[in-house]
Amino acid sequence: MKKLLKEYANSLGIEYIGIASAGPYYDLREILEQRIKKAYKSDFEEDEIEKRIDPSMTLEDAKSVIVCLFPYYVGNIESSNISKYTYGLDYHKIIAKKLEQIGEYLKGKINDFIYKAYVDSGPLVDRYLAYKAGLGFYGINTHIINEKYGSYVFIGYIINNYDFESDKAIERTCMQCKRCIMACPGSAIADDFSINPFKCRSYISQKKGELSELEKDILRKDNLIFGCDICQDVCPHNKMIKKTNIGEFKDNLIFSIDYDELLAISNKEFIRRYKNRAFSWRGKKILLRNFNIINNSS
Ligand code: SF4
Ligand code: SF4
Repeated sequence: MKKLLKEYANSLGIEYIGIASAGPYYDLREILEQRIKKAYKSDFEEDEIEKRIDPSMTLEDAKSVIVCLFPYYVGNIESSNISKYTYGLDYHKIIAKKLEQIGEYLKGKINDFIYKAYVDSGPLVDRYLAYKAGLGFYGINTHIINEKYGSYVFIGYIINNYDFESDKAIERTCMQCKRCIMACPGSAIADDFSINPFKCRSYISQKKGELSELEKDILRKDNLIFGCDICQDVCPHNKMIKKTNIGEFKDNLIFSIDYDELLAISNKEFIRRYKNRAFSWRGKKILLRNFNIINNSS
């Protein structure tokens, strides 16, 4: 069945697919508890630790988790002012569709197969799952690094009730050159493979409301008005990587947002033009705020 699963995933353009056990992941609990102790848990994360380490709290009869990588790198675009992961159409929809296709395919092959598929907003820790499923290894910058596509990868997973044989984690880390630590504009990365999200420029660029002076200073250290790619761009594991093989991430790309355009259009028009883009989820106001801070005009 695992062979059939992999073949089907490959036919959808998914080259890296693996299986993580259904846990509970007690080693992950320790990491999450440490993060809470350091007050590193952000409001973008699931609150309940047990839900994060135990798939059966989401799907009662969970027996394994199918994990897939979706590379999105299309090259380094000098003039861009948004994060690389937002160049294409909103990855949530593209990935959710492919995961559903896999789930429905398995339903047709396995009696009483049930599943729940997630991208980004699920209860489990997707990078941990990708590591457990043998799809990559951890960088100090906390990203999962894949041997072929580097760390510019999205992760999707399917909790399900079929006992697929687990894959083995790759027992290594990044080369630990610490370039990401040195280059991080918020000094958010520590050498114990942890990040303080509240000092992370990507988090700050998506945070609602008024920013503190420290947050504004961090934002001004780069020109991206949405996200931050620095700790990935400087990583030696991201040199010589392959560009994405996924058609949906190659077409219909936007590399920059224009300040004058943003200023001129209404919220309604902004939604009409950009609702299918990941950079639009916080709305026009946040993007304009970031522009103004970076241009130092507020
Ligand atoms: S995304 Fe940017 S700010 Fe956040 S940890 Fe990486 S380099 Fe630092
Ligand atoms: S930049 Fe260096 S230390 Fe940071 S993740 Fe990459 S290899 Fe590891």
